[in-house]
Amino acid sequence: MKSDILIIGGGAAGLMAAYGAAKALPGARITILEKMPRPGRKILFTGKGRCNFTNAKPWNEFSKHIRTNPNFVKPSFYNFTPEDMIDFLETNGLETVVERGDRAFPYSHRASDVLDTIVETVLRQGVILLPDREVSSITAVSAAGGFEVRCSSGESFSAAKLIIATGGLSYPMTGSTGDGYQWAGFFGHKVVPCFPALTALVPRGYKISGEQEPAMKGHINRETPMTGSGEALRGVKLKNINLTVTYDGGVTETEFGDIDFTDGGIEGPIGFQVSRKCVKALLNGGKVAFSLDLKPGVPLEELSGRVKTLWNEIKNDPRTRQAKDGRGINGKEMYRILLGKLMPWDLIPGFQTWNPDILKTSVKKNDYSHRRNSPQKRFYDVNLDLLAKTLKDWKFDIVGFVGYERCVITAGGVSTEEVVAKTMESKLREGLYFCGEILDMDCDTGGYNLQCAFSTGLLAGQSAAKSLSQTE
Ligand SMILES: Cc1cc2nc3c(=O)[nH]c(=O)nc-3n(C[C@H](O)[C@H](O)[C@H](O)COP(=O)(O)OP(=O)(O)OC[C@H]3O[C@@H](n4cnc5c(N)ncnc54)[C@H](O)[C@@H]3O)c2cc1C
Repeated sequence: MKSDILIIGGGAAGLMAAYGAAKALPGARITILEKMPRPGRKILFTGKGRCNFTNAKPWNEFSKHIRTNPNFVKPSFYNFTPEDMIDFLETNGLETVVERGDRAFPYSHRASDVLDTIVETVLRQGVILLPDREVSSITAVSAAGGFEVRCSSGESFSAAKLIIATGGLSYPMTGSTGDGYQWAGFFGHKVVPCFPALTALVPRGYKISGEQEPAMKGHINRETPMTGSGEALRGVKLKNINLTVTYDGGVTETEFGDIDFTDGGIEGPIGFQVSRKCVKALLNGGKVAFSLDLKPGVPLEELSGRVKTLWNEIKNDPRTRQAKDGRGINGKEMYRILLGKLMPWDLIPGFQTWNPDILKTSVKKNDYSHRRNSPQKRFYDVNLDLLAKTLKDWKFDIVGFVGYERCVITAGGVSTEEVVAKTMESKLREGLYFCGEILDMDCDTGGYNLQCAFSTGLLAGQSAAKSLSQTE
């Protein structure tokens, strides 16, 4: 089958490329080949099913969230800004809303609404969208131009212009399995080594350590069973804390915000924020350590005083003394009451499991110990100074990370040095374009990654169409 412009991959970037091309050159034959039964499967998972489709920050702030090569993204960003994306969805019938941190969502908070709007709009432009077409090889027809593409079904397609929008390696069940990198290599492009970014980090003792050496140093598959200690923390969300990361015992960075303990490890906004650098360090055999400050607004000395005051209040509370038939409750229960005043209730079991030294237990025989089998009495000693210190500096050694199976974005990819930022065309092969996550371009969470996919996609499509119209 012959097309004017062929797009491999019907994700965020590929769909937008098709739209850009169809708008720029009405009547052109534009075909998308998508490997999965439906396009844009990954979009359905974005923003936890709510799709944070862009971030409305202006370029000078937006660009700070692009971790690699912001200058490469600049021309495509200005060509199709976050406002343009919001406008695109609104004009095509989808109401949107901008929330905290300039994050934009569909008003319905349903990712499927974003996907449906994009796909319907693309199809209305006359684009041919072919699902279940897994491209297996590409050949250049001649040095002068033109490409031939083969699918695993045996079908072949040809076109004057080819846009590769096959995404990265994250969430492979959505169809993104890194197929495009080999074709980039085939055309002589450098592919910057990839690694998972925006991913969960695994503390020592959180997962049952496996026997097998992972293919990627530090990779601990999300499916790896958790230890009892890991289970004790799973599901806990900590808000407004400081997370300090130490690399190789030296350089540190501190982020303020929220983290989540999940079945993967530590993630959530600031967990993700530091994950790129942590993964890179672990891959290079470096040491990574976390310190959580659960009370960032209170200096240690003040917190120590507060802990002691609370402890005395609990000790002297008539309810404490009257409990248990007037004999008073034991130190272990008082410790739990104290923790309840210092942290969310669901954190207490995990905090106790991970910090067993704060509560010391000793066993002594009772006065009538001369009797055989005389009952023993447990004594509990709470180290209040250590408790305050741990609240300010709860340490975890980070020993691994969750891989592509569940990371949000792939760092690395087709080097942007060999792609023209103003057109997305290859500098090595005329008529060949790249866009989206396949490029060496990754951002923080917050809608930046999708916007970069939309912007580079739209520009690739427009440029391919423009170049085609000039040669005709
Ligand atoms: C869980 C999760 C949540 C996310 N949340 C957000 C968010 O809220 N906001 C945000 O900005 N970003 C988010 N992202 C990132 C965002 O989804 C990606 O940046 C974006 O989808 C990249 O778009 P893409 O089109 O380049 O690649 P993809 O979306 O990966 O699309 C590539 C397409 O190419 C197809 N393909 C691959 N190989 C072939 C082949 N051989 N033949 C034919 N077709 C092929 C694939 O099936 C796929 O449909 C999230 C990512 C994940 C995994």
